[in-house]
Amino acid sequence: MPIYEFACARCGATFEELLPSSRRDEPQKCPSCGARAHRGVTACAAPAPTKGGCGPGGRGRVT
Ligand SMILES: [Zn+2]
Repeated sequence: MPIYEFACARCGATFEELLPSSRRDEPQKCPSCGARAHRGVTACAAPAPTKGGCGPGGRGRVT
């Protein structure tokens, strides 16, 4: 099961969660403040030139 990194927009905390790939786009509870944090990018800190250009299989946009 892959590890995904999440970034909390409220407090700025980042944390990792082990999730099945089918749940990778689900928001996870921030361990610091309890807000719902969305998945951030891990391997690509720089903006990708095209959408879905980074990550295995091309990552979908979180809408
Ligand atoms: Zn937080």
